[in-house]
Amino acid sequence: MPAKEKLNTIALPKQDHEILAASNITEEYLEMQYIFSSIHPNSNNELSVSRFWKALTRTGILHDDPRLNSLKSYLSNISSGDEDQTMITFEQFRELINQNAIVRNALKGTLSIPAFSDFCGDIEEIYLETKKNKDGEVATYIPQLARVNPDYYAISVCTIDGQRFSIGDSEERFCLQSTSKPITYCLAHEEFGEEYVHLHVGREPSGQKFNEITLNNKGLPHNPLINAGAIMSCALINNKKDTADVFEKVMDTWKRLSGGKKPGFNNSVYQSERGTADRNFALAYFMRENKGFPEHTNIVDTLEFYFQCCSIEVDADMLSIVAASLANMGICPLTGDRVFSPKTVQNCLSLMSSCGMYDYSGEFAFTIGLPAKSGVSGALMVVIPNVGGFAVWAPRLDKIGNSVKGVEFCKKLIGKYNFHKYDNVINDGIKKDPRLKKYESKTNNIMSLIWAATYGDIEEIHRLEANGIDLNAADYDGRTALHLAAAEGRVETVEYLLVKGVNINPMDRWSGTPLMDAQRGNHKQVVELLIANGGK
Ligand code: GLN
Repeated sequence: MPAKEKLNTIALPKQDHEILAASNITEEYLEMQYIFSSIHPNSNNELSVSRFWKALTRTGILHDDPRLNSLKSYLSNISSGDEDQTMITFEQFRELINQNAIVRNALKGTLSIPAFSDFCGDIEEIYLETKKNKDGEVATYIPQLARVNPDYYAISVCTIDGQRFSIGDSEERFCLQSTSKPITYCLAHEEFGEEYVHLHVGREPSGQKFNEITLNNKGLPHNPLINAGAIMSCALINNKKDTADVFEKVMDTWKRLSGGKKPGFNNSVYQSERGTADRNFALAYFMRENKGFPEHTNIVDTLEFYFQCCSIEVDADMLSIVAASLANMGICPLTGDRVFSPKTVQNCLSLMSSCGMYDYSGEFAFTIGLPAKSGVSGALMVVIPNVGGFAVWAPRLDKIGNSVKGVEFCKKLIGKYNFHKYDNVINDGIKKDPRLKKYESKTNNIMSLIWAATYGDIEEIHRLEANGIDLNAADYDGRTALHLAAAEGRVETVEYLLVKGVNINPMDRWSGTPLMDAQRGNHKQVVELLIANGGK
């Protein structure tokens, strides 16, 4: 019999764990209780809607996430309008969570970055350190870029489970410029496949400026991520078609990649790009002379389409979701929409790894070791495959044309976290791995519990409980969480474990009890607490 049905027919006293245990439905029910209590309900065992939102936001699942639509309508049905005053009972909570896998996993701490708020704390720290950097100059080749406030700075991150965090000017829009190029390439790849696309464009870094008038020894652009190559991608997808229709498809693709948020279009940027386009025209004619374009290519249409792609506007939050869709092999984490095939994304990431940062690409691959793409607007997207994506926007550029703060941010991120492609060959434990549960790297689940007890980390104990760990579990020496919490004098943790009803006198293999540990450590409060509860 399914658990839910059984619960309804047995009409159990709600809190009675023993009857629950006998009735075979413990796991789901208890798991829900663990999750519920980890959000700290009030003394009536009810949770305010605002507290619920706070807990969810800490996991990185944000209010505007399209996966929360049905949850939001449920909450608005029971809401009195005041989220502090509207209470959710345990049964309502349970119903809510059972219907929503993303919320359940978020609160259980099983999303890609389990300790998400710690991770965001580190990002914020890097943001504040790098914010001071005033090096570099904004791009001045068109007035629209020259006029941008050089101090704008935004960082956004989105994981492949759609956990999001933004700091700084993350709601200001900026034009994509060259960060449009990977997506234009993906569109061409998706439509024509690898073989055909690379009959027209190489896949080698050029070693020169992004708009250098140079082609490879076959007379083709070096790669799709510099101007000549991006113009070629545009020629492929625009060939013999109505440019307006193709551009609509491009806009729609950006929208799908950013979880349904509509990109904008900056017409003045477009007009300026068109008006200062000699270099790009020269590149296009040079490619035509070398017979690089597919038949029927109209140079003017192709270039106008290219300028339009550069003039699309997004904010950092959106760009990070796009980067996360690439990290997620073409599926948008917020909608589950498969926008590109895995092969298209794999090839795009390979190119971003070798050619995404202009003629700093080799240096970036060496020091940062992640696929990325920058643009002259100061935009930078960085992909951490199977983990998530970052967007950084800071308009001051270095001599090569990359965002100064963007590059500095990446260096600091890689200094802290083992995201470099080859960090896995070192594994000396110096850099953090946010993909792991806090203590998982130390050893298995029981050890995680024991470590958490040792450090008095009650939040982590909650998380482990929610994942079904028995709080009475002992290691091979018979040491339990209570032994360790007592030995370290962690009063609150001992209290917490006692409330949870753990065995108060477990014996380790030296016949030691938690009380003996507390006495040995001279932890008076813990000793009193244990004795008062029957400790021997
Ligand atoms: N629109 C610019 C150009 O084509 C942009 C390129 C860039 O971001 N490097 O020259």
